[in-house]
Amino acid sequence: MATDYDEVRSDVKESQDRSLEALQSANAPDARSVVKELDEADALDEGLTPGGEIVSEELIVQVIPEAADEFTCYSCFLVRHRSQLVRESNGHSYCIECEG
Ligand SMILES: [Zn+2]
Repeated sequence: MATDYDEVRSDVKESQDRSLEALQSANAPDARSVVKELDEADALDEGLTPGGEIVSEELIVQVIPEAADEFTCYSCFLVRHRSQLVRESNGHSYCIECEG
């Protein structure tokens, strides 16, 4: 890009190129950084909204099937709600269907 300009060396053109480069180097990075900062700010705002929290909880549930109000029955090995827990022995939980 700059090699051709060196052969056509004139003070006027060189000053034009310099001013153009100065404008580009002065404007483009600023515009990008401002847009980037806005994007990051939006991302942070979205992360704090209830919608973002719901998405996070869904992701956690997918990775960890046993939630805080659930247990895994040691007999049938199904993840069940705490309300179905009827017996615990030796650290193992048993659901109402297995114990009923
Ligand atoms: Zn069970």
